[in-house]
Amino acid sequence: TSVIEVMFMLKLVDILDEKESVLHKVSTEVSFPLDKKYLDLIDDAYEYLRLSQDDKKCEELDLRPGMGLAFCQLGVLKRIFIISYKNEDGSFTEYTVINPKLISYSNELIYVEEGEGCLSVNREVDGIVPRHARITVGFYDINGNYKEERVREEISVAFQHEMDHLDGIMFTDRIDKDNPYKDMDKMRSI
Ligand code: ZN
Repeated sequence: TSVIEVMFMLKLVDILDEKESVLHKVSTEVSFPLDKKYLDLIDDAYEYLRLSQDDKKCEELDLRPGMGLAFCQLGVLKRIFIISYKNEDGSFTEYTVINPKLISYSNELIYVEEGEGCLSVNREVDGIVPRHARITVGFYDINGNYKEERVREEISVAFQHEMDHLDGIMFTDRIDKDNPYKDMDKMRSI
């Protein structure tokens, strides 16, 4: 893919900033069959996330790296998010998640040591976000088929971060205002 093509593609996903009110609203459930425009948006969002995790392209295009995007970040208040996680071998572990429900979770809590990030938050944020180390989520795929997935570690954090977006909750809302590193010693860092 050429840089020109990439720049054209990136125009297709306009990621909203936390200042936008749409990011603080609850998204509504999606019905099937999925609208073509949502399918296209999912494809564009994947393109963005994959590119953003390519060190060279990321620098060339001045992208912020990210592994998850919720539809509300693209201005669409629908309960859809995608995860694209780059593995060490260069392959991607990806999930398209529609109308998710949390089924169960581990009591063990973890947090991202360097701090959680969000493509809609363009500033440094101090503090830790407690997340369940493992969760089981039920959701629908793009064809409307129901499935359940048990996810752990980084992917578990990503799912919880994105599920929060569907309820209008930002990761910054989950950081204790008075004590941003509260109970740090009771959790495991990843
Ligand atoms: Zn986010």
